Amino acid sequence: MTDPILRVEGLKTHFTTERGVVKAVDGVDFEIPRGGILGMVGESGSGKSVTGLSILRLLGTPSAKIVGGRIVFDGEELLAKSEREMRAIRGARISMVFQNAMTSLDAFFTIGDLLVEVIRLHQRVTRKEAVERAVRALERVHIPEPARRLKNYPHELSGGQRQRVVIALALACEPDLLIADEPTTALDATVQKQIIELLLELNAELGTAILMVTHDFGVVAKLCRTVAVMYAGRIVERGDMETVLSAPRHPYTQALMRSVPRLRAEGAGGNGEDPRRARLFEIGGAPPVPIELGVGCAFAPRCVRATEDCRSADPPTAGFGGSHQAVCHLYAENGREMQHAGT
Ligand code: SF4
Repeated sequence: MTDPILRVEGLKTHFTTERGVVKAVDGVDFEIPRGGILGMVGESGSGKSVTGLSILRLLGTPSAKIVGGRIVFDGEELLAKSEREMRAIRGARISMVFQNAMTSLDAFFTIGDLLVEVIRLHQRVTRKEAVERAVRALERVHIPEPARRLKNYPHELSGGQRQRVVIALALACEPDLLIADEPTTALDATVQKQIIELLLELNAELGTAILMVTHDFGVVAKLCRTVAVMYAGRIVERGDMETVLSAPRHPYTQALMRSVPRLRAEGAGGNGEDPRRARLFEIGGAPPVPIELGVGCAFAPRCVRATEDCRSADPPTAGFGGSHQAVCHLYAENGREMQHAGT
């Protein structure tokens, strides 16, 4: 078995605020095999986007610091790299795609300018070769008439085409890992489906591993082979997609899945519904701001199965066979359901 392309161990990313230390990511472990697709799913504020930004060391504010853990990419510790070394990795070996294509594309540059710049930043090629590669990059994401499109400005494209261009930019240098942060959220259902199909196609064609960060379990179900569910800065459940879909163990995962109608019944969310409806409206209460959370399960105030144990002691990690794990008082370490917990 080959080494994973990415291994994250005990990652902690904290923000210093006037109210205290926000433990946005608080001891997160996961790995992505070469060519694998991991879905990281959770509500806004769960720490999933901060995890993605931490990998690229793009936290963007001095108040945010990676205070613990390791990020090993292709066998090398990213936290030991200089900023100069990280600049050579970003865009070339690890790329990121964000939700809003319009903010990712500079409105004053043509699509061709943007692509050629990215390609020439990371690859020693002439301008002519870079233009040829830019055309190929647009072809790869199925932009019609790619040579002509190079002359277009972002506002001249549709929303779906812009997101395809963003993906073309991210994959122009054929990176080993793509971090996709809610890349389909702003798109309508049809375009969202097309973008997911495109990501699957590019994963198969280029072998690019994908970390898909999203609030939408429906997207994860359609795209990912493994899933990690985040809550309050920690992973509360993980496992193979099919296993978690068919038998989610953590009450939070169960609630997330219930927010996607018919997801469990029909499997992998392929039911033709409008994925924009897959919001988290069914989970009562709001996620906590992870400022100095006390002992106990962070989900307890919203959990329909919470007991006194849940509020007074940190939940254990239970294994259910294979890579399937959940962090919850409902289960013993061997995955057996405890009789005293829950309702
Ligand atoms: Fe609910 Fe308790 Fe499990 Fe937390 S540990 S998810 S409160 S049952």
